[in-house]
Amino acid sequence: MDCLRLIRIAGLGVSGSYLMNRLSQEGIECEGYDPKPPGFVVPCGYALNSRLFFRFCEMASLDSEKYIQVIADDVVFRNSAGKAVHFSPAGLATIDKNSFLADLVSGLKVKHTLLTGKDGDLIIDATGISRSVLGPVVDDFTMRTLEYVSDPTEESTFTFSFFPSGSGYHWIFPLSSYSHVGAGSDDLDTVRESLEGTPHSRILSRNIRLKPLFDDISSGRAIGVGEAIGTVSPITGEGIVPSLECAEILFQILKEKDEPEAIVREYREQLKSSYSRYIRLFDLLMNVRTGKLLSLKNIGALSPAREDLRYFGIEASLTKIIAALL
Ligand SMILES: Cc1cc2nc3c(=O)[nH]c(=O)nc-3n(C[C@H](O)[C@H](O)[C@H](O)COP(=O)(O)OP(=O)(O)OC[C@H]3O[C@@H](n4cnc5c(N)ncnc54)[C@H](O)[C@@H]3O)c2cc1C
Repeated sequence: MDCLRLIRIAGLGVSGSYLMNRLSQEGIECEGYDPKPPGFVVPCGYALNSRLFFRFCEMASLDSEKYIQVIADDVVFRNSAGKAVHFSPAGLATIDKNSFLADLVSGLKVKHTLLTGKDGDLIIDATGISRSVLGPVVDDFTMRTLEYVSDPTEESTFTFSFFPSGSGYHWIFPLSSYSHVGAGSDDLDTVRESLEGTPHSRILSRNIRLKPLFDDISSGRAIGVGEAIGTVSPITGEGIVPSLECAEILFQILKEKDEPEAIVREYREQLKSSYSRYIRLFDLLMNVRTGKLLSLKNIGALSPAREDLRYFGIEASLTKIIAALL
């Protein structure tokens, strides 16, 4: 690591904050930039697989128990015809994401401003949907979302209600003293309609990237991490643990290599292998959206779909997935 003296990280969501924590623990100098003022909340349902989350907390020297809010005891998927299918929870939970983010970078060099200029040995684009450093990609794929901070629910049930033809879904995720009720789709009217009548104290909104962008991970001395390069499940929109994993992959490479081209080459290879299911699931999503349901390719994508749900903390048989998603 002799050549990389300073790493500047733009964006302190999960991917940027976790990477900053890991690099700092290793004694690698880094500076983090994020213009959001303390207390500002970036919309997110805060649901993840607590069993995988524990591992990342441990590596970041944090106590995961502090952040866990509600552990699912039932998971309901409702298809577009309204039919409910019950899945077994396998670690699905909500966390206090804001405390987790604050603790990851506590005591580190954080500036509440935009990163300007491109000096520094390496710049990390962890700016999520905006890809502020790397810039836009022509054939990107994003959906609109709205999320309400709503009343608490009595039960520990996590609910996903899918819209027709792969056009998004509505969710209810319970937290300790409130719940997140939201919806994502490419059609904002569908999102609004599905949330009509939901009591709320706050509404948050942003787009979500559902396409893996593993061929667009770098530009000059800048490298992307997390949602900026599409580490988000195309079928569930899960992005917290995938972005932590992506940051861990990059961290391990930065520990070993200091030449930007070699870093990018190795990183791209590892991303394509670790997230190969996202490439298949994105194709599945596109096929469902264009009505091409019964192709061999789609049937072949059901196993990655099951793997992806298990990663999110949901155990599902193939027959239940077909009933719920198609
Ligand atoms: C409504 C909604 C609900 C979701 N629910 C879930 C869920 O329940 N579970 C789950 O796993 N995933 C969920 N996701 C996805 C998940 O939130 C993201 O994929 C994940 O947080 C991505 O992390 P990130 O660090 O890459 O990006 P982000 O968390 O988006 O962080 C990017 C950061 O960059 C900052 N930034 C932007 N521009 C600049 C700039 N120019 N300079 C410096 N900083 C900048 C922003 O302020 C932000 O803090 C949801 C997404 C949405 C939109």
